[in-house]
Amino acid sequence: MPGASKRSRPWAAVPQPRCKDAPMRLSVDQKALIESAIRDVPDFPQPGIVFKDITTLLNDAEAFGALMGHLKARYETYGLDFVAGIDARGFIFGAALAQMLGIGFVPVRKKNKLPYTTVSEKYSLEYGFDEVEIHIDAFKDKRGARVLLIDDLIATGGTARAAASLIDKVGAECVEACFIIGLEFLEGIGKLTEITPVYTVIGVD
Ligand code: AMP
Repeated sequence: MPGASKRSRPWAAVPQPRCKDAPMRLSVDQKALIESAIRDVPDFPQPGIVFKDITTLLNDAEAFGALMGHLKARYETYGLDFVAGIDARGFIFGAALAQMLGIGFVPVRKKNKLPYTTVSEKYSLEYGFDEVEIHIDAFKDKRGARVLLIDDLIATGGTARAAASLIDKVGAECVEACFIIGLEFLEGIGKLTEITPVYTVIGVD
């Protein structure tokens, strides 16, 4: 394939069979370790919202290591070509994971942040709209590139649906959307599942 690096995979590749002993599931202890490293901040950014603060998780080498080791084990058999992270906390987990998997990282950014030609997607908020963008050549024009979408948290799922739609718009395939935290009492996970498989490490009900 012209311009393809030695490490690039065929675009139509299907995930390889999973290694029988791969630690796909977190142990109860690892899950508890990760969960306890996430700080709840009540009434931020407004009254009634419990903000899930992942800075305390990033600052805990053991918990962050357990999380990233688990994600690497889960995704190394997916035949991924890229990891795409959502602005801004998705960049932290996504870039680290892409590097661990030996593949490229792509940022999905809020409007007017990316310098080159972009494709954009609007989505509804409770009041008004927001917009996310991706570089038009983010996946190096490789049609059908296999992409994992990642963010720290899914709430209503609006941001993630827009991001998955951008991946599709530039000709790649979102093979799964991964979130460290899923707010299961909202409808976001269910709605996103209509367009891509969803994996959440920690579910909050
Ligand atoms: P949504 O589009 O409603 O799924 O919102 C997801 C985005 O908002 C993610 O990028 C999260 O980082 C952020 N977010 C929404 N709710 C929370 C929350 N309770 N705690 C932390 N981040 C949140």
